[in-house]
Amino acid sequence: MLRIAVVGSGPSGVYTAQALLEQRAVPGVTVDVLDRLPCPYGLVRYGVAPDHEKIKSLQQNLRVTLERPGIRFLGNVPVGDGPGALPAALLPELYHAVVYCVGAATDRRLGIPGEDLPGSFSATEFVSWYSAHPDAAPGGFVLTARSAVVIGVGNVAVDVARVLARGADELRHTDVPHAALEALAESRVTDIHMVGRRGPAQAKFTTKELRELGALPGAQALVRPEEAELDPAWADPAGLPSAVRRNVDVLRGWAQAPPRELGRRIRMRFFLRPVALLGDDAVRAVRFERTVPDGRGGVRGTGRFEEIEAQLVLRSVGYRGVPIPGLPFDVERGTVPHDRGRVLREGVPSPGEYVAGWIKRGPTGVIGTNRSCAKETVASLLADTRALVARRPAGDPAAALRSAGLDPVEWPGWLAIEAAESALGARLGRGTVKIPDWDGLLTAAHGKG
Ligand code: NAP
Repeated sequence: MLRIAVVGSGPSGVYTAQALLEQRAVPGVTVDVLDRLPCPYGLVRYGVAPDHEKIKSLQQNLRVTLERPGIRFLGNVPVGDGPGALPAALLPELYHAVVYCVGAATDRRLGIPGEDLPGSFSATEFVSWYSAHPDAAPGGFVLTARSAVVIGVGNVAVDVARVLARGADELRHTDVPHAALEALAESRVTDIHMVGRRGPAQAKFTTKELRELGALPGAQALVRPEEAELDPAWADPAGLPSAVRRNVDVLRGWAQAPPRELGRRIRMRFFLRPVALLGDDAVRAVRFERTVPDGRGGVRGTGRFEEIEAQLVLRSVGYRGVPIPGLPFDVERGTVPHDRGRVLREGVPSPGEYVAGWIKRGPTGVIGTNRSCAKETVASLLADTRALVARRPAGDPAAALRSAGLDPVEWPGWLAIEAAESALGARLGRGTVKIPDWDGLLTAAHGKG
C-alpha cells in the first residue's frame, strides 16, 4: 500500500497519476493530485489557446483519470514557502512519495534595455489573460496598439499572434473570458510582426500551427523573400528534415502570395536579433540587429540595425522552471536534477522524491511527450517500493491540510466551478465562459456561485 502525492494537475501530473494507477507491480496505490489552483488541467486549461478546441478537449481524457477511484484532486493547495502555502518539507510526513509535476512556471528574459517598458509583456501574461488565469494582471490588456511585435518564433508566439489577428467574433464561441473578448472586439491592431533571430529552417513552431496563421479569415501572413533567402535552405529545402521542410514550404508559399485586402497582417520576419526596446513612457519600437547564418545553425550579428514600430511587444522566448523550496535545482537548465525521474541530491538518488514533465526535462515537446516521461518516473518510483513502504506517513492528508490552515477544493468543488462557468456563459448568451478571478472561482467551488 503506497500513498503518493503528485504536485501539479497538468498533463504530466495526471499522466503520472494514471501510470501509478495502471501499474500492476504494487497493489493498493492511492494518489492525491495537488494543485495550487482550484482548477485542474494546468496548461491545458491555462495555456492551450481557446480556439484550439481539439487540444482543449484533452481535458476530457484528463478528467477520466482524475475521477478514477484511488485518485483524489486537492486544488487550492499551494506547495512552497510563501504565505498560506504548504511547506514542501511536510509532504514526506503525509505521503510515501512525492512526484513534482509543476511545469516551468515563469518566462525566460531577453535581458535587453527597455524590456520592462509599459507596453512590453511576456507572452505568458497575454496567454494568462485570454485564458482567464486567476493570477493574470487584473486590468487586462487594452489593445490600442496598431503595431505589435512578437519576439520569438515558437508555438507560443504563433498562439499569441493568432489571437491578436483573429476578430472577436471568431472567438465568441470559445471559453475566452468575457472581458478579454470585449477588449479583442475593440482591438486596433493591424500589423503583427513575428520576429525570429535565426532563419525559417530554425524556427521552433510546428507546421500545423504555422498553417493556421495562413488560414485566418481576416489576416494575411506575409514573408519577405529577400530576408528568408538568407537561409541557405530557402532556395532548395529538399535536404531538410521533413518537419522543417514542411515549415519552409508553407513560408515559401506565403512569400509568393499576392497581397490581399484584409484588415490585419502577420509579418513573419527572420534574422533579426532584438537589442533594445525603445520608448520613454511606453514602448514605441523594437531595435533589432540584422543577423546572418554562421553555417552551424546559429547566427552572427552584422552591425546593421533596424527598428520595427510597436506599441505592444509580446516577448515569447520560452518558459523557465522555478526552484521548488527544499529541492536541488539546476539554474542553467531551469530543471530539478534527476536520474530517470528520481531527484538527485548532490548526485545521489533520493528515494521518495521524483519529478516528471517540464520541471524534469525542460519546456519542450508536445502534451503527449509527458506520457512517456511520466511512465519513466513511475517506473523509478515503483523500483523504490521497498524503501518507500518502510515510511509511515501520518493520517489523512486532507485533514492535515485543513489543520495547516489550507482550504482544499476537492472534485465536487471543481464540478461546482464548471457548473458556474456554464451558468455564466448562459447568462452572456455564450457557451461555457471561464471565471477569471480567485474570488469567483472559490465562491463557485464552495457552492455560492
Ligand atoms: P520555444 O519553442 O522554445 O520557442 C522559443 C522561441 O524564442 C524560439 O524561436 C527561440 O529562438 C526564441 N528565443 C529564445 N531566446 C531568444 C532571445 N534571447 N532573443 C530572441 N529570440 C529568442 O518556446 P515556446 O514557444 O514558449 O513553446 C514552449 C513549448 O510549448 C514548445 O515545446 C511548444 O511546441 C509547446 N507549445 C505547443 C503548442 C501547440 O502545440 N499548439 C502551443 C504552445 C506551446 P532560438 O531557436 O533561436 O533559440
